[in-house]
Amino acid sequence: MNAYDTRRMQDILRPMGYTSVDEPDAADMVILNTCHIREKATDKVFSDLGRIRDHKLEMEKKGQQMVVAVAGCVAQAEGDVILSRAKHVDMVFGPQTYHELPEMLAKITGAYGSARIINTDFPVEQKFDYLPDENTSCGASAFLSIQEGCDKFCTFCVVPYTRGSEYSRDAAAILKEARQMVANGTKDITLLGQNVNAYHGTGTDGKTWGLGRLIRELAEIENLKRIRYSTSHPCDVQDDLIEAHRDVPQLMPHLHLPVQSGSNKILKAMNRKHTIEDYITTLEKFRTAQPDIQFSSDFIIGFPGETDDDFEDTYNLVQKIGFASAYSFKYSPRPGTPAANMTHLIREDIKDARLQRLQSLLFEQALSFNQSFIGHPVEVLFDTQQHKEGQLHGRTRYNTAVYAMGPSRLSGQIVDVIVESAGQMALHGAIRIESDI
Ligand code: SAH
Ligand code: SF4
Repeated sequence: MNAYDTRRMQDILRPMGYTSVDEPDAADMVILNTCHIREKATDKVFSDLGRIRDHKLEMEKKGQQMVVAVAGCVAQAEGDVILSRAKHVDMVFGPQTYHELPEMLAKITGAYGSARIINTDFPVEQKFDYLPDENTSCGASAFLSIQEGCDKFCTFCVVPYTRGSEYSRDAAAILKEARQMVANGTKDITLLGQNVNAYHGTGTDGKTWGLGRLIRELAEIENLKRIRYSTSHPCDVQDDLIEAHRDVPQLMPHLHLPVQSGSNKILKAMNRKHTIEDYITTLEKFRTAQPDIQFSSDFIIGFPGETDDDFEDTYNLVQKIGFASAYSFKYSPRPGTPAANMTHLIREDIKDARLQRLQSLLFEQALSFNQSFIGHPVEVLFDTQQHKEGQLHGRTRYNTAVYAMGPSRLSGQIVDVIVESAGQMALHGAIRIESDI
């Protein structure tokens, strides 16, 4: 979602004369678009700010200005701390206010050095109302935010506090943006939301649409070849979404459905509002609707109160389901969340050992899934940008990365690749047919 928001900020700044550069050294403005989900992500902001300060000082020596801004969820949650700890930061603004960038920037550059801005409101008017008409390509595969915020309040999570309450965009606006993206060359759209399957936007017929209905409408867009969505919550899986997996060929057979833990006791303490049995039943329904479907998940290891038995339950669940890929993290207490006040904390060395054990199982599963393609053709959508000289990078229907040697004219195209080797993260292969491309 930060990648999507960053693209939006670029769109808003472009008419003001800004273009993106690869290195911050001599930029007129640096915006750090930050993540607050785990402690590590927050720490990174302060270390990056240290490096940016050096560039800013260099620029000032030459009599030039560099505006330094911190955006995103760290700005939302710790804006005042950033301003007091990092004196060279000119503005901090939360994820709901980037449409106000031109005004904020005018204030900063107008009275440079004397004014600093903090903007962490949740304005009534929505940032999505400020989407400029753009004709720039966002690549063969791109994100599209359809839903934001969360009302679930899992006890470990900062999202309801930093991104605010659940909000779904109108279907008409989403369809318009998707058509524009496809007209500019996008073939694979990932619909985004903190709880994307809680989507309940106003449809073009004035009725409330769920995610399944929205996907069916998006599938009508000619040349939109692939549709994905992320991230879903097990409690918000509706029948219309499962049916869309059965009926809509453009909907990719891959589902990221975080479970976090395999222990019902821990799920309850996390306030996840479902059991492991519910989760398994949901996956079975998806498998019945679309037998090719593969699953991925998120896991939090070492949540307060997690015993060896609770961890074994998580390990056994992973063994039972078999995930194509997964993300796993050590529990990280986040200020202001209910879990941050819990007792029975797990020692770091125990968390480390459990995480290592789980990750080796998950890596093994990912590797064997990827190896199952060796010798077979897979449909790959190559990125618009060439990866490096002569080599293309793309994604399979399961969103697995693929590298293959090929001419740049295949960029942005869907091509069959015969898989020759497979690692845990990516496939390597040879392009099969070029004749009809
Ligand atoms: N809405 C999604 C998750 C969004 S956050 C859901 O409900 O599943 C992305 C992932 O970050 C989570 O799935 C969780 O695994 C991880 N995460 C969130 N807060 C965390 C914390 N305090 N410590 C460790 N991992 C965390
Ligand atoms: Fe966070 Fe997801 Fe829980 Fe919402 S549902 S509080 S985003 S983990």
